[in-house]
Amino acid sequence: MSPEALYAELVTLVREEAILGSVAATLEWDEETNLPPGGVENRARQLALLAGLLHERAVDPRRVELIDELAGSRLCADPGRVEAVNVRELRKAYERERKVPRALVEELAEITAVATAAWAEARERRSFAAFAPHLARVIALKVAEARCLSNGGDLYDALLDDHEEGASAARFDELVAPLRRGLPALLERARGSDHRPDPGVCRGDFPLPAQREFASWLAARIGFDFERGRLDESVHPFTTGLGPGDCRITARWDAADLSVGFFTTLHEAGHGLYEQGLDPSQWGLPAGEQVSDGIDESQSRLWENLVGRSAGLWRFLWPELVARFGCLAGADAEAVYRATNRVETSLIRARADEITYHLHIFVRSDLERALLRDELAAGDVPAAWEAGYRKLLGVAPADDGEGCLQDGHWAAGLIGYFPTYTLGDVYAAELGAAADRDLGGLERALAAGELRPLRDWLADRIYRHGCRFAPAELIARATGASPRAETLLRRLEARVERLYG
Ligand code: ZN
Repeated sequence: MSPEALYAELVTLVREEAILGSVAATLEWDEETNLPPGGVENRARQLALLAGLLHERAVDPRRVELIDELAGSRLCADPGRVEAVNVRELRKAYERERKVPRALVEELAEITAVATAAWAEARERRSFAAFAPHLARVIALKVAEARCLSNGGDLYDALLDDHEEGASAARFDELVAPLRRGLPALLERARGSDHRPDPGVCRGDFPLPAQREFASWLAARIGFDFERGRLDESVHPFTTGLGPGDCRITARWDAADLSVGFFTTLHEAGHGLYEQGLDPSQWGLPAGEQVSDGIDESQSRLWENLVGRSAGLWRFLWPELVARFGCLAGADAEAVYRATNRVETSLIRARADEITYHLHIFVRSDLERALLRDELAAGDVPAAWEAGYRKLLGVAPADDGEGCLQDGHWAAGLIGYFPTYTLGDVYAAELGAAADRDLGGLERALAAGELRPLRDWLADRIYRHGCRFAPAELIARATGASPRAETLLRRLEARVERLYG
């Protein structure tokens, strides 16, 4: 058989798997947005059957044969060809699959499901003790998984790399060193200042139908295509691609606070633009997929923070806001800008401002590293958490509910995931600075309501490349330099200077 015929056979196999995956994603989307309580049990059965079918396909020996044959063929001789990219990435995926024994995969799935339920219950009671043995079991299994993946190297590095190719603890530490040094000083400056931005300007009575309409208007305005996507409501906002031409984003609205729906919409629409900008001819293949968690998060955070918290955007939006929600008329665009950029220490990561956000991440990344390297026992997490918060943020939780139980990542087996949030912000700052140069000033464009040029720039530099380049290389190609945290730090310094003097 010619390499072209082998490749066509491989694409058919992989696409069928992607279609099955999108069937599962459709059911999951429905579960989060529409499913009545009576349907939960049957939905679990549907998803379990699909998971089994998907697993069968992933380990299909024919697929492995095709990948191995193609890897040495003339079709893949030029590594820049899209066929070579897809074969390279599919091979990586099955080699990863092969390293971890099936029994361990199944045990992890089962134990993390049980641990997640235990975490939810413990969080409800705001007490860590009953969750501790579950966390210990999850960590033990993640250590076993990391041993399979690490090729004898550092265990935590293996898990980091699993979420963000090329990442390691040492590289992460080096990259974020300027943030570790600079952010606490910025926080101090804001705390010590006499200026106090008033958060009250975003609060009031904002009818939900009007907020939803505004969110759709905003998402369309930045380029989200409603012919190929939808915006719905869910408790935990998310974005999911159900196939080429069908991207679902969800948001959450609060009738008493305009900023909740505004920022969740921009965040998810940022993920949605990335999804909609992927190459449709490569759908279901690595060249048509998001390259990493960090890059994906850079896209959402770029729209949420660099666009959504810019003075230029608020100036442009001001007449629109007054027309839609007249009650804001007592304030002005500058007041909303200041309110949405205020800096304050908090205990909850998900509600943190842009500056303290990373301090929350550093507490978590330090602890998960210690857990995985057996330098910290699961039962000692609450005390270590409190110590970390006192040291980095100067506050301590009153109970585990607002402390170490606030995030479900560890229960779900996501160890080495938190750093991708900070990486996402570092990448977003680099992309924003490069786009600012290329587009002749982002602030000016945003104030003029010119939102599409940024979307088009990202489509060209990021979206269309799929998994062609590793994350750091993708950023370097897009911006002309390797990602560094100084760009983010400088932007945040300028922000504190403007707000707090
Ligand atoms: Zn996100």
